[in-house]
Amino acid sequence: MTRPVKKKADKPRCGLCGKTKNLTKTECCGNWICDDEDRYVPFSFSRKSCSRNHRRYTLCGYHFNEGHEGDWKTCEQCRTDFEPEMVAWYGTNEYNFEKMPDPPTYEPTRCSKCKVVIKLATDSYSRSGDEYRCRNCTENEM
Ligand SMILES: [Zn+2]
Ligand SMILES: [Zn+2]
Ligand SMILES: [Zn+2]
Ligand SMILES: [Zn+2]
Repeated sequence: MTRPVKKKADKPRCGLCGKTKNLTKTECCGNWICDDEDRYVPFSFSRKSCSRNHRRYTLCGYHFNEGHEGDWKTCEQCRTDFEPEMVAWYGTNEYNFEKMPDPPTYEPTRCSKCKVVIKLATDSYSRSGDEYRCRNCTENEM
C-alpha cells in the first residue's frame, strides 16, 4: 500500500473509524485501533467496539486467535473453517484494515422452506445439518 505522506499525518488514528483518542495496537496485525473493548454502547450494535469487532468478526483476528501460520489472506485453514459466504464476509467487512483480495465465491444461502435468501453474516436463521431456515420460518414452526 502506498499513500501520499502528509506532513501532519503522524498522529495515530484508529484504522477503522479514524478516532485519535484511546488507541491501542491490535495484537493480530499491529494496527492502531480504538481501545474500547470494555465499553458497551446500547443501540449501536454494528459498531460498538472497533477492537472487539476486528478481533471477533474478521479472519485476521480469528487467524491470530487460532494460532495459524503465515498471512490470514492466504491461509487455507481459515478458508476451510467457515462456509465460503462467511469467509468472504469475515475477509472483506468493514472491520478489516486490509481486505481479502480474492474472497471465495458462493451461492446465496436460501431458506430451505420459503427459499428467501439468508445473509449468514447479518440475518438471523436456524440451521440443522445442511438446511437453513429463515427467521420467519423458524418462528412459524415454534
Ligand atoms: Zn475505532
Ligand atoms: Zn488484525
Ligand atoms: Zn488462518
Ligand atoms: Zn423461510
